[in-house]
Amino acid sequence: MRKYVIMGVQGSGKGTQSMMLAADFDLVHIAVGDIFRWNVQHHTKLGAQVRRTMAGGELVSDDLAEGVVKDRLTAHDWNYGFIIDGFPRNQRQAEFFLESYDIDGVIHLELPDSEVRRRVMARRLCADCGMDYNLIANSPHEEGQCDACGGKLVQREDDTEQALAVRLREYHAKTNPVLDLFRRKEYVVNVDARPDRQTVQREIRAALHLPQHGS
Ligand code: ADP
Ligand code: ZN
Repeated sequence: MRKYVIMGVQGSGKGTQSMMLAADFDLVHIAVGDIFRWNVQHHTKLGAQVRRTMAGGELVSDDLAEGVVKDRLTAHDWNYGFIIDGFPRNQRQAEFFLESYDIDGVIHLELPDSEVRRRVMARRLCADCGMDYNLIANSPHEEGQCDACGGKLVQREDDTEQALAVRLREYHAKTNPVLDLFRRKEYVVNVDARPDRQTVQREIRAALHLPQHGS
């Protein structure tokens, strides 16, 4: 069983790297932001509760975030483990998490703030299937159209200059202390997030002493 947390600023590639790791090692990928976005898109009660906060770039309440994580992990469909992305983001969430679960490692994707803006502004999502694109490093074959399903590519509602500034500020103020806490527990491996996705993935596996080719 492998249990990981992945952390890093906006646009550092947490989602991409988590998915690559999850696919190869049969881990359940829990992306708290994706779960909230799904709820917004499907007009659920939870979606209505978080929509405005998310669009502004602020953190939603700890109760809601913890609820999502708890619900997902009590499903117990993670025989081989999980990788959690977007949680914990502050001190209280970290305490909740450490009380409830033990972890094998925290992956910290390092990206300078100057690179964040460039990446986030170039990010596009398929409105239908949610596939992620980047107009710099990973553009679709047809402009504005998803390679996988032909859906329309859109920007995330919180990928605006204004909301990004808030998100970055929240990250440095609230999430950095969590990283310090995990560092003191010697969970953290640092990986440079600037190279291409395959290189970053290789570095993550090396740092966690995982085989380069699955299982
Ligand atoms: P990013 O890390 O790029 O800001 P995410 O997709 O991980 O984006 O999260 C999007 C938004 O969802 C956050 O800005 C916040 O509003 C909300 N969110 C996600 N995870 C949490 C969390 N653990 N606690 C509070 N809010 C969260
Ligand atoms: Zn699509």
